[in-house]
Amino acid sequence: MIRTTCPYCGVGCGVLAAPDGAGGLVVKGDPDHPANRGRLCSKGAALGETVGLDGRLLAPVVDGAETDWDTALDRVAQRFSDAIRDHGPDSVAFYVSGQMLTEDYYVANKLMKGFIGSANIDTNSRLCMASSVAGHKRAFGTDTVPGVYGDLELADLVVLVGSNLAWCHPVLYQRIAAAKAARPEMKIVTVDPRVTATSDLADLHLALTPGSDVALFNHLLAAIQKRGAVDSEFVLEHVADFPEAVRTALCSDPEPTGLSHAEIEQFVRLWIGTEKVVTVYSQGVNQSAQGTDKVNAILNCHLATGRIGRPGMGPFSVTGQPNAMGGREVGGLANQLAAHLDIENPAHRQAVRAFWCAPAIPETPGLKAVEMFEAVRDGRIKALWIICTNPAVSLPEADAVRAAIASCAFTVVSDCTAKTDTARLADVLLPATTWGEKDGTVTNSERCISRQRPALPAPGQARHDWEILSEVGRRMGWSRAFDYSHPAEIFAEHAELSGVAAGLGKDFDISGLAGLGRSDYDAMTPVRWPVADCRTGGRFFGDGRFFTKDGRARMIAVSAQDRVSADWPARPFVLNTGRIRDQWHTMTRSGQSARLAGHLAEPFAEMNPADAARLGAKPSDLLEVTNDHGRAILRVLVTDRVAPGQVFAPIHWSAENASAARIAALVPAIIDPVSGQPDSKAARVSIRRYDAAWYGFAASVVRPTPDCAYWARARTAAGWRVELAGTQPKADWTAFARDLLGCATAESVTMDDDARGTRRIAFHQEGRLVAVLFAGSEPVAVSRRHVADQLGTEAPGILAGRPGGEMPDPGQTLCSCMGVGINTISRAIRDGGLTTVDGVGAATGAGTSCGSCRSEIAELILRLKVPEAAE
Ligand code: SF4
Repeated sequence: MIRTTCPYCGVGCGVLAAPDGAGGLVVKGDPDHPANRGRLCSKGAALGETVGLDGRLLAPVVDGAETDWDTALDRVAQRFSDAIRDHGPDSVAFYVSGQMLTEDYYVANKLMKGFIGSANIDTNSRLCMASSVAGHKRAFGTDTVPGVYGDLELADLVVLVGSNLAWCHPVLYQRIAAAKAARPEMKIVTVDPRVTATSDLADLHLALTPGSDVALFNHLLAAIQKRGAVDSEFVLEHVADFPEAVRTALCSDPEPTGLSHAEIEQFVRLWIGTEKVVTVYSQGVNQSAQGTDKVNAILNCHLATGRIGRPGMGPFSVTGQPNAMGGREVGGLANQLAAHLDIENPAHRQAVRAFWCAPAIPETPGLKAVEMFEAVRDGRIKALWIICTNPAVSLPEADAVRAAIASCAFTVVSDCTAKTDTARLADVLLPATTWGEKDGTVTNSERCISRQRPALPAPGQARHDWEILSEVGRRMGWSRAFDYSHPAEIFAEHAELSGVAAGLGKDFDISGLAGLGRSDYDAMTPVRWPVADCRTGGRFFGDGRFFTKDGRARMIAVSAQDRVSADWPARPFVLNTGRIRDQWHTMTRSGQSARLAGHLAEPFAEMNPADAARLGAKPSDLLEVTNDHGRAILRVLVTDRVAPGQVFAPIHWSAENASAARIAALVPAIIDPVSGQPDSKAARVSIRRYDAAWYGFAASVVRPTPDCAYWARARTAAGWRVELAGTQPKADWTAFARDLLGCATAESVTMDDDARGTRRIAFHQEGRLVAVLFAGSEPVAVSRRHVADQLGTEAPGILAGRPGGEMPDPGQTLCSCMGVGINTISRAIRDGGLTTVDGVGAATGAGTSCGSCRSEIAELILRLKVPEAAE
């Protein structure tokens, strides 16, 4: 088994992987990795199903035609050199990714900042955690996460702010859940406008008004002061600007939170009364026009009480991406230099320039993500290189971003697939290796550096990103600076540079790893930085030593701001965006797994029953969501987990898998003025029921190619499934289905019900079901899972759309690992009178593998018990 690291979230779980002999991988959790100790979530457990070559980009492509590497690399080097010669270094830009490995990131940053001479390199991590970086730097003088994962288990109170850990960092959630099971007196508070899977673990859920986190934590800081909970000694010796921050907090009003006095008081008492408190926060805090202030409002409370950097206590930013931290360490953001050094500091610039023997280091920050694509749109950027990310889907105002990329004079995309919304816009496509083939390091949210190792050979002509970047650097004239032949050399250089940074007073110091040769690098085990002569790992700031000029932390006076600015037109709904349990970003990898697609196979809008009733939307209707920037059509999910006036929609769907569900198209490009991070949680939208002339559901063994007003396509074990809706009824449904489902010569059987307006058509080839379509004037009510499971079988009763009486309908997959559907679990709960998740596991197998579905099972138990309790 190869020891490697999961490529998804910032937990950074260790994975053991081995080829399965059929092109895939067998994976399991690494029992020796400190992040997960053998656990994996549903996404990690399905990694082996995502490494197939379907859709892979296997050769360079220039102007739409496959070519060889020399031609493609020469074209890239020439066009970038021409732009720099004619328009200066700031006329080019790199947009990179928190999923790149540290070695890839290091070379990209070195090429742009050291040799091209511009700081126009930014990363999709800007969308994820830039506000945490900015908040850390304001408070600590450095971008450093103080604590370690073990603190989550040692704490007596864990507060989760804007963080649906159960779905977005599942293994951390499982660690906390296990700790609480072992110590039931441990308390959990969730702070989130939406009730989430994580809230099910909470002793207290605070459904605050979106964006009011500063008001809540300012109120907590004021209470800390008023109730004598300040650690005066710590503050006196180690903290500056305490009076201003407290004065501002004392003037703050908790009313904007929308929480009751009793809820706030319960929270304040718990927080103040519990010394071992960890406050975890992630995208719900960071992705905000006031994200940096929110971060500092949280840090202020920990600094005022001295609860930082000691076992079981401290603020804890968890990153969304697997190597957001590594990117921060190499300076992958436009406002950073390498090794936590500062681009605006002349001594730092000089040190990096001397170390790299670089011609020039830019003196000012470059364009941050949103600004970068504005510069692309207005023609200031003449050559753009996008690596390992999909901004045409993920950036705010995504329709405008897509148009900007299409209009750019020269766009290069390096990716493992040509089938992304962004790759389709490229002038040059460069085939890159992906997880399972890559070789390098990543850093997780607790500063732990782990190896990603290849378990499969690079397919076709695919190359590593660091190799591609180095080739271009050499062709642009910098042969010596980019003369790398192995990632170990890059890592050693990065580690050595961190020693230079440490000499300038920086905390990111892994100089102890600078001497690693290839064999040591290959054998490297997970290690938490710093790794230096004087210390390895551990927590930061428990000793009261910070990385500001005077060594004292800064409390920042922050005021709650009105969330609705003049730029945001009044529309009736606030759109909150986020992740779902079993998908990752724009699904280029996780979308390959049928198992993962079984959980939530269609883009949706989660809406309160009162709002749904007001719109006349029944469960399974479609909604049209619009604003000035974009439009989406989504299936309504009616739930009281969101408050009236709010709606939640996932970020994962792109033009590759749905007709109109690119949610970032609806997000205005409003950014935090300090961090440059866009506010992805509070778009204003209008919503109406979308009434189609017809609705449909189809499954087929070949990939359906829909061309209608609404569609959403997902994989199944034996092929594909697709939801459909159209504005014009079809004159010939069989011909339509043959075209859609790629079954021109298959035998068809139809069942029409004119009274109900339904059409059912099944296609068999050599006695096996190859495709089936259900259509009608209302959303079709068939068992999706049952229908999809019949592909490739004789499927005699397929047009019934449901299993016969002897074969119960399992329903939508709830437990991906064990393939257990929601109906199966519900029946077990009802019939067996089950009251615990373990009981459900014993009866059905659900929740007994990775555990990611356990919170949903718990919720189901609760939901199904409610009527009994009321009787
Ligand atoms: Fe991967 Fe899941 Fe671990 Fe995150 S929690 S690193 S997605 S296995």
